[in-house]
Amino acid sequence: MIEIIFLGSGGSIPTEKRNQPAIAIRYEGWVLLFDAGEDVQRQYEKAQLGLNKKMSIFVSHLHADHVLGLPGLLLRFSLLGRIKPLNIYGPKELIDYVKVSQSTINLGTTFETAVHAISPGEIFNEKDLTVRAFEVDHRGFALGYEIAWARSTGRFLPSKAKDHGVPEGPLWKTLASGKSIELEDGTMVSPKDVTDPSPPPLKIVYSGDSRPCEELRKAATGADVLICEAMYTSEHAILAEERGHSTAAAVANLAKESGVKLLVLTHYSPRYYDGEEVIGEALPVFSNSVLARDLMRIQVGKDGSAVIVKPPGL
Ligand SMILES: [Zn+2]
Ligand SMILES: [Zn+2]
Repeated sequence: MIEIIFLGSGGSIPTEKRNQPAIAIRYEGWVLLFDAGEDVQRQYEKAQLGLNKKMSIFVSHLHADHVLGLPGLLLRFSLLGRIKPLNIYGPKELIDYVKVSQSTINLGTTFETAVHAISPGEIFNEKDLTVRAFEVDHRGFALGYEIAWARSTGRFLPSKAKDHGVPEGPLWKTLASGKSIELEDGTMVSPKDVTDPSPPPLKIVYSGDSRPCEELRKAATGADVLICEAMYTSEHAILAEERGHSTAAAVANLAKESGVKLLVLTHYSPRYYDGEEVIGEALPVFSNSVLARDLMRIQVGKDGSAVIVKPPGL
């Protein structure tokens, strides 16, 4: 199971209810952190993500609201005695930023930190997981990320089950769950016989800060979950354009046109008290939209199913 945890869902300035942007993806004991807004360390603790986990941090761009929390996180890990190495990926300016951050920690960090200056393209491929960066349209160099897991078996295809003479009913369920079955005449049917032979990967896409753009559209195509900034509503479309951001309506349209399964709107402006205007604008365009809240979790199954666990009080 893959779990997405929103540590910060606000854009620019933190509010009473929203921290600056940071999203953790937890997968088989590995924490992948996307952006590290101010005070991410406290949210990280609240989400109980663990001190000595395998961890990779991905930064979308060097605007302060996306990196102010990085020095604090490094300090916290050092004070608590982390020993596992840490990999940080992002634009090349990140190298100096991390160096300066480390120099503010008195005794230095207790763990190795490798900072990787990346360009658009594949960053790594480890077992079934591939992470790829793509350039988005913001102010200055900014990246979005595509996180994809290869699937061993594809979708269950009822037409193929029928072709193999499997009657509709519990046997379909057994095959869909990945187990072989035996028909009355002794014929064995395996899940491979009745599933998509080249299944598309399970895909989560994070836009970072961006105007709607072609690269984002390409990455989002067929995504199981698209996490998009929605700094403004259409009322402020001109501001969005000037500042290199998106409106809720624009990202909902992009999600609809790209065949996305679930859209999560995040990084919304402090001018929206609880974000109702933001989600209110997206839903009529794309009904499978949800508004990110701090500490909200989305559990994504390998079949692409998504369960949203709202934080207490919401
Ligand atoms: Zn931002
Ligand atoms: Zn920005």
